Amino acid sequence: MSREIPLLDLKAQYQAHKQELHNAIDEVMESGQYIMGPYVKNFEDEIASYVGVKHAIGVANGTDALLLSLDALGIEPGDEIITSPFTFFASAEVISQMGATPVFVDIDAQTYNLDVSKLEAAITPRTRALIPVHIFGQPINMEPIMQLAEKYNLYVIEDACQAIGSTYKGKQAGSIGTCGCFSFFPTKNLGGYGDGGIIVTDDDELARKTRILRFHGSSPKYYHSMIGYNSRLDALQAAMLSVKLKSIDTWNDARIEKAMRYNEAFKNTPLVLPFKESDRRHVYHLYILQADNRQDLIEYLAKHGIATGIYYPVPLHQQEVYKHLGYELGSLPVAERMAERTFAIPLYPELTDSDQDYVIDTILKYYK
Ligand SMILES: *Cc1c(COP(=O)(O)O)cnc(C)c1O
Repeated sequence: MSREIPLLDLKAQYQAHKQELHNAIDEVMESGQYIMGPYVKNFEDEIASYVGVKHAIGVANGTDALLLSLDALGIEPGDEIITSPFTFFASAEVISQMGATPVFVDIDAQTYNLDVSKLEAAITPRTRALIPVHIFGQPINMEPIMQLAEKYNLYVIEDACQAIGSTYKGKQAGSIGTCGCFSFFPTKNLGGYGDGGIIVTDDDELARKTRILRFHGSSPKYYHSMIGYNSRLDALQAAMLSVKLKSIDTWNDARIEKAMRYNEAFKNTPLVLPFKESDRRHVYHLYILQADNRQDLIEYLAKHGIATGIYYPVPLHQQEVYKHLGYELGSLPVAERMAERTFAIPLYPELTDSDQDYVIDTILKYYK
């Protein structure tokens, strides 16, 4: 075993942009403004313009972007919010943090996104909002979601944490619902060097409230109109993210190109390949495959120095903390089945052709 191919190589991206990043760090350090200030404002303006919305509000992380959105929209105990069982825990956690109840609807076996045909049946008089998640970097079918939201008067909070730069019918993920939430966790397609997140919206009132909430519910300083949070995007992170935002389209293009290369290589294997809807730009936050014999295959790959990741091993309705919600085994069969079959293989913009060829050859040999 000579090679080691990680799932993601963050150091490669840092090395490639080291000088620019260090210049940005120096500028912030010299400016003397480390919380809020011009670098945060500048990055917020850049994200608003990139996504195509009026407002962007930087916060401490993607989870807080979701949480502050729900808080600003007035979500209360007793409310129900529908989301996916096949996502990172935060998508549902924030609902519980507000004292509301997450309602899980099964997913589509091809895209791993919520099955929109099953949404309406889950809406009750208590439903206040939907949190569609653009999972693995492909936007969910937003049109029927927005129609349901209109019909039942629901908020739509797009969890676009894995999908920055992806599009739905030409519109950027995060720009379609009531608001959109992004994470700049280092492993995301646009990753910082620590935690970070942002809320994007065209809604003036929602923007105003989240700006106040992130600063202890105060505006002006020391005048508190709400119980808020200490949840701000660091100036250092904002300055480094401004540097990296310039490359996001190039990086996403590189992910797409490498995903196509994998698709071509694996088309005659028993692996189930990622499915892309024709009216979307899928930015392959993760390159997800399905295998019947997942455990055996990932052990074989590990022996050959190839990292894999399981997204997600336990659907949210089966998490211990959600036992009280009463979802029985078999209640969301697609999510449960996918949790036993899906896994990610290495994909990142800096993955070299030679390393990718090694991953491809190793997998093809397994099936020979
Ligand atoms: C990463 C992620 C989050 C949370 O973002 P953090 O910045 O880690 O708080 C929320 N939802 C999804 C789908 C994510 O992938």
